[in-house]
Amino acid sequence: MNSFKTIQPFSIGMGDRFGHEAQAQLLAITKARELGITVTPVWNKSNREHTLIGTEPSDVLAAALGAIQTMGWNDDFHIDADHINLTTVDRFIPASDFFTIDVADYTGKPAKAEDIQAFIGAHQSYLNGISIPGIAHPLAFTESLLQSTAEKFLWSMQEAGRIYRHIAEQKGSHNFITEVSVDETDLPQTPAELLLILSMIAREQIPVQTIAPKFTGRFNKGVDYVGDIAQFEREFEEDLCVVSYAIREFHLPKSLKLSVHSGSDKFSIYPIIRRSIHKHGAGLHVKTAGTNWLEEVIGLAEAGGEALELAKEIYTLAFPRFEELVKPYAPVVDIQRQNLPSVAVVQGWTAEQYVSALRHDQSCPGYHNQFRQFIHVAFKIAAELGVKYTNALKKHREIIARNVTHNLLERHIRPIFGNE
Ligand SMILES: [Zn+2]
Repeated sequence: MNSFKTIQPFSIGMGDRFGHEAQAQLLAITKARELGITVTPVWNKSNREHTLIGTEPSDVLAAALGAIQTMGWNDDFHIDADHINLTTVDRFIPASDFFTIDVADYTGKPAKAEDIQAFIGAHQSYLNGISIPGIAHPLAFTESLLQSTAEKFLWSMQEAGRIYRHIAEQKGSHNFITEVSVDETDLPQTPAELLLILSMIAREQIPVQTIAPKFTGRFNKGVDYVGDIAQFEREFEEDLCVVSYAIREFHLPKSLKLSVHSGSDKFSIYPIIRRSIHKHGAGLHVKTAGTNWLEEVIGLAEAGGEALELAKEIYTLAFPRFEELVKPYAPVVDIQRQNLPSVAVVQGWTAEQYVSALRHDQSCPGYHNQFRQFIHVAFKIAAELGVKYTNALKKHREIIARNVTHNLLERHIRPIFGNE
């Protein structure tokens, strides 16, 4: 296995669409350390976000470095080229040291017949079942599971290998962290499939340190988990056991851990995740992104006056463009246009009404799940407003920063990684 840059056990991905929140985010990380929670900050931004906003990966690095200098941060941090593939990775290479290789689009593309046969042949002993410490019953494998998993994932993991080697050639393998993500595939992966996928990654000699499976249930953007919580808990624990088994069995990096592409705000499963990682002594990476942009809009609304008007303007401009804004996020949002408040209703809202509709407090009667998901995907409107939006971010810095820090620390870092 090639050398690699090592990631710490606990890390959190923090998206920052407009590049103004790095300091407020880093403050959440430093406050967490004061509470005894050691989490490494990672600034992630996907190609999709860069394209919609018109930013470059170097902007993410510059924003992070600015915050690091101001705050005197002297520990690890990373810049994640999130969801890249061979056609999009190049512009990320200079400014990133964490690459999320996304091969979900290639699943189902068949590998060479002899490669599939070789993979199945190498795993014949699995047909007797695999006993994994921490899992009560041996994981069951059938010939058809080996076959279907190889047909679905082998080519894409070979492609992940090509992408990894492409990055390593240009950057030097010791200068970055590799994640492989299959979270945007059609179906969730079972723990048995995860084990086979990790075997494929090991055969490609990728020093993978974070692996993002698709978990059972819906991980919609900016709102809570929807699904079978008991099943999630069982599979999440089994996935943790599979990862530590794969580290030993396939000689993968000891720092390998699960990466949860949370879509933010999965409050009902955070306690399960926290208990499970502490129980198993496992590391974890969790990505958040849009929740930080939503706090910007909440901060603007809370500020009132012209800032509230701007928050309303974003909705007013977004509403007629519903289809266009939802389209890039269609698999990860559940919004019905007829369930959204009308523009006239929102125009009549007070600051309190706007904030309580948008802030993710499910116990608040004014909370509006559909409104929140729609504002989540409407950041393109703010990008189009250009300096009008970014000047407002500067002008109302204090109130926005307070919301960003509080949200990241109290609604994410503490519930996911905290000890209590
Ligand atoms: Zn993802």
